[in-house]
Amino acid sequence: MNLILLGAPGAGKGTQAEVICDTLKIPAISTGNILREAVKNGTELGLKAKEYMESGNLVPDEVVIGLLKERIAQDDCKNGYVLDGFPRTVPQAEALDVMGVVIDKVIDIEVADEAIQKRLSGRRVCEDCGASYHVDYKPSAVEGKCDKCGGKTVQRKDDHPDTIKDRLNVYHEQTEPLKDYYSKTGKLVIVEGQEDVKDTTALTLKAVEA
Ligand code: AMP
Repeated sequence: MNLILLGAPGAGKGTQAEVICDTLKIPAISTGNILREAVKNGTELGLKAKEYMESGNLVPDEVVIGLLKERIAQDDCKNGYVLDGFPRTVPQAEALDVMGVVIDKVIDIEVADEAIQKRLSGRRVCEDCGASYHVDYKPSAVEGKCDKCGGKTVQRKDDHPDTIKDRLNVYHEQTEPLKDYYSKTGKLVIVEGQEDVKDTTALTLKAVEA
């Protein structure tokens, strides 16, 4: 099964992607994680992507389309995958169609902008393993230290309040039109993001199984 998770940055796509991937035993592919890893390692891809990412802009379509194409050609994608953070523009969705990728369902997680602001500005991530925390809703046991691996937890550069606003604008302008794109194909399912993540997860799994 090939699934797409749509939604604003901070809507919880990553968390839901993990749940789906555990349930269906298919990989979750996050273009954001692939790009962050490339930036951390200083690869050619990372050098191309860094500035766009830190300023809250989208990395150019041809760059992300190329990396996604390579990723889904890998062996572990044979039985399907969950795309988290791709496509983010109409040309990216069109590129999937051109590649012949058949999408079974597009799950759009809806969260209001004000809630997104709160979630992202309080988010902290582990520098080493990427585990995600929140200063109010999901603090690590020891402040600044990852519960899972003991790494340092930090605020992502693009989670600073001004950049969050830019990312939300980019989302509304460039990514939200994808709802229309996929609603025309009859594949779009809307999940209202809930305050308690467990409740959102229950709705997501219901949407996957429907
Ligand atoms: P994310 O972790 O999904 O919020 O992605 C972090 C950043 O990576 C985004 O703000 C973009 O700069 C970049 N990025 C991730 N996925 C894409 C994509 N599909 N198209 C363009 N840029 C992307």
